[in-house]
Amino acid sequence: MSTMSSISDDLVEPFEIEPFQLRGRLVRVGPMLDRIIAQHDYPTAVGIMLSEAIVLAIALASTLKYDGVFTLQTKGDGPIRLLVADVTTAGAVRGYAQYDAAKLAEIAGTGGTPSVPRLLGAGYLAFTVDQGEDTERYQGIVALEGATLAECIHHYFRQSEQIAAGIKVAVDRSADGTWRGGCLLVQKLPDGERSEFLGTREELEDGWRRALILMGSATSQELTDPELAPEDLLFRLFHEDGVRVFRTHSVRAECRCSRERIDRVLRSLPFDERQDLGEDDGSVTVTCQFCNAAYRFERDDVAAIAAG
Ligand SMILES: [Zn+2]
Repeated sequence: MSTMSSISDDLVEPFEIEPFQLRGRLVRVGPMLDRIIAQHDYPTAVGIMLSEAIVLAIALASTLKYDGVFTLQTKGDGPIRLLVADVTTAGAVRGYAQYDAAKLAEIAGTGGTPSVPRLLGAGYLAFTVDQGEDTERYQGIVALEGATLAECIHHYFRQSEQIAAGIKVAVDRSADGTWRGGCLLVQKLPDGERSEFLGTREELEDGWRRALILMGSATSQELTDPELAPEDLLFRLFHEDGVRVFRTHSVRAECRCSRERIDRVLRSLPFDERQDLGEDDGSVTVTCQFCNAAYRFERDDVAAIAAG
C-alpha cells in the first residue's frame, strides 16, 4: 500500500468502512505528546494517564463538528486529582495533571498495574465544547467507572445513548524516555448520514461486530509504531471489509497562554488574593499550569494592576 500523505506522525486519520456504514479515526502521536509531557516532571504513572487523556481527547474531538475548544477532564479522590486535556478546532493540544506525590508513592510501593480506580479513585470524567461567549456549552459527564480511561468513555457512550462506538488506546514510553500514543475509534454512522444498505440487518450488525474485533486485534506496538504508516495499519486491519481513508489532520502541542491573558486573570482576582501571590520584592510570578511557562510581573506592573 502506498502512503497517501506526507504527514506520518502527530495526526488524525479519518476512515470509513463503507459497506457497513461505519466510520473511524486513527490517532497517531509522537513528538507533540512527548513535548507536552516533557514540559512537566511527572512520575511515569501520571505521564501514562495524562497521555491517555490527551490521545482520547484528540480522538473524540475529531469526531465532533465544533469551532472552539474541546476539553476532556477527570476529577477524582485518588492520587491523581485532576487530568485536563484540550484540543482546538485548529489542532492545538495541551494538557496537565495535578497529583498528590505522597499518595502516589504509597500506591507505587504496593505494586500492581496502574488503573483508573487506583490512580484516579472515585470521581467523574467530563467533556465540554466551548465555542465562545453567547453559545451553548455542550457537556457530557460520567462517573469514573472502568479500569482504563477508554473504558470510562465506553461507559459514557452506553449511558448517554450516543452512537455506538468502540475505542482502543495505547501509550508507550520508549527506553530513551520519549512518549508516543495511538488510538483507534470506530463508530456507527448516525442514521441521518447512512446510505441505503442493501444487505440484511444481521449482515450490518456482523460488519459492526467484526470491525470491533479487528480494532481490538491491533496491538499497542502497531498503534504507536512510527515506522508503520497509518494507512498501512488501517488496510492491514480492515481491507477485507473495504476501508476508505480520508485526508489526515495534523495536531500539535500548543498552549494558549500569554502575558495578556495572565494580566487579565490577575486583574480579575480580589486584592488580597493578588497579595498572596506576591514575593517579598513585590513582584508576582504566575506559572501556566498547562505548559509551565512563567510570567513575571515586577512591582511596578503589579502596582499598575492594583491601580486598575
Ligand atoms: Zn501555557
